Amino acid sequence: MAMKEFKTESKRLLDLMANSIYTNTDIFLRELISNASDAIDKRAFIALTDNKIESVEGKIVLGFDKKKRIITISDNGIGMDKEDLEKDLGTIAKSGSLEFKETVDEKDTMDIIGQFGVGFYSGFMVADKMEVVTRKADSDKAYMFTGTLDGYDITSAKKDEPGTAITLYIKDNTKEKKYDKYLDNGEIRSLVKKYSDFIRYPIVLEEETINSMVPIWKKAKKDIKDEDYNEFYQMNYYDFEKPLKTLHFKVEGNTSYTALLYIPCKRPFNYFTNDYKLGLKLYSRGVFIKDEAKEIVSDHFRFIRGIVDSDDLSLNISREILQEDRQMETLKKSVDKKIKSTLEKMLKDEREAYETFFTEFGQQLKFGCYDNYGMNKDQLIDLIMFKSSKEDKYVTLKEYVERMKKSQKEIYYATGDSIENIKELPQIEKVLDKGYEVLYFLDGVDEFMVSIINSYDNKQFKSIQKGDLDLDTKEEKKEIEKKTEDNKDLIAAIKEVLKDEVTEVKLSNRLKSQPVCLVSDDALSIDMEKALKAFNQDVKANKILEINPDHDLFKALANEYSKSKEIKEYAQLLYDQALLIAGLTIKDPVEYTKRITELMIKSINK
Ligand code: ADP
Ligand code: MG
Repeated sequence: MAMKEFKTESKRLLDLMANSIYTNTDIFLRELISNASDAIDKRAFIALTDNKIESVEGKIVLGFDKKKRIITISDNGIGMDKEDLEKDLGTIAKSGSLEFKETVDEKDTMDIIGQFGVGFYSGFMVADKMEVVTRKADSDKAYMFTGTLDGYDITSAKKDEPGTAITLYIKDNTKEKKYDKYLDNGEIRSLVKKYSDFIRYPIVLEEETINSMVPIWKKAKKDIKDEDYNEFYQMNYYDFEKPLKTLHFKVEGNTSYTALLYIPCKRPFNYFTNDYKLGLKLYSRGVFIKDEAKEIVSDHFRFIRGIVDSDDLSLNISREILQEDRQMETLKKSVDKKIKSTLEKMLKDEREAYETFFTEFGQQLKFGCYDNYGMNKDQLIDLIMFKSSKEDKYVTLKEYVERMKKSQKEIYYATGDSIENIKELPQIEKVLDKGYEVLYFLDGVDEFMVSIINSYDNKQFKSIQKGDLDLDTKEEKKEIEKKTEDNKDLIAAIKEVLKDEVTEVKLSNRLKSQPVCLVSDDALSIDMEKALKAFNQDVKANKILEINPDHDLFKALANEYSKSKEIKEYAQLLYDQALLIAGLTIKDPVEYTKRITELMIKSINK
């Protein structure tokens, strides 16, 4: 029997399918079942207006025969006549995915096929021959379409009822791939469960309906109990805890979709590793499209879990992927917006829940502000909180600014590993004494984030460990100038000793009970130096040694120095102490210990 050649484009798609040993071949079943479901939809729709066409209860029947190595997929849908077969299966590929292929390499194409499928031809991933016996709903003539890699043929056939039955002749096993698995009841069942569970018509295998047909997110809210929502979440995400927040909503308009989304109570243990997988699934009219649907939610909301079921995607899916991309973009915008408004509402009305959320996922939002050169900072900034010196509780930037003192021009923050650690900073006492609130920057990302967002409500962020705080009154400034003048030889001597370590040594009013501290200039901070060191980046902050002129230690030193004693040891000790308080390592711990030991001996022998 002479076969017709497939049209060139179809042939290319066919080759792509036949050789796609590295793609997810499982999806062929989803594609063929979706076609069957579409065909039943069409029949039901036409039956509404055309009384020649009888409406029936739609049903999809699966069968397999291990010995003959065949799978069959039958439906009682609209069916096809000879022209349909020629047009729809013979020249299938005006496909958008093929046009797409011109511009991307093979591997990318495979990914696209894996994600969206390209319909009927995907059968050739697992079969080397496909037979389609079909009878159109308004006709008593039936046809058989036989397709192989070499071409296709259409002949007359017999079929009792309208509809379509597709037989796949499953390939022999190869070294890379065991096609046998598709000839197994359990495997077929699990593929249906995974990809086609929510197809609206029963999918019957060996007389048993194996799909559940109505997905929970398609049910009316009033018919769903909290337990149902929670159970669906816990089963799907293997979470012992109930979700913190459940969102079930429908969006109509440009892109219509239904979504069932969850915010988890706890951050998954691998959340900040490469192993973490986004728990968001994309469906199209009840048909599973893909896991980890990164396309439809922004990275900064990647904690979200659940399902987005679009009404518009599937009809065009295999045909116009480029357009699809735009649709995905719209979908993403809409999903993002919904998550954002939910978080805002939580912050406003359910403070405690929001704080729980923020403790788990706040870092992610901060990364979001910082990422892409701050592209999303305006969207996210009001969702960010910090603990602060006022009661050690969370505060938003808005709240902070609202309760700022009149005289305060900048937003103060301090960086450290823990709240205790920050409270002990020599620099913080004075700021608190003046009645200012200080934000605690406890996450490595915090300081990088403010370096990107720069200001909030026209107020700059100001580290109390950096540069000049400008807290002093005129008199205080004068006083410091005088003390500096009085001790200029001592200060110069200390500076000489430390000239390779610090850019400046100065007296300051920043300190209260501590003798010394290190601050950096306005560029890189000391904590950024530490953070970057963790990434093997050896950059140094410019360090300034600030000395408290009112401290007994300085007074004693000034006294000693006037008696022209050696200053070297003391200067070095002061600097090492400042390093330790700042959480940095000292250059020579052995030397440091020696100096302390000698001082101890001296003081004991006195
Ligand atoms: P798509 O479903 O995106 O249109 P397919 O390659 O899956 O692309 O199918 C091509 C066409 O073949 C369908 O649009 C439909 O007209 C026809 N077709 C495929 N399977 C069936 C079926 N089971 N019953 C009726 N028509 C079918
Ligand atoms: Mg299809």
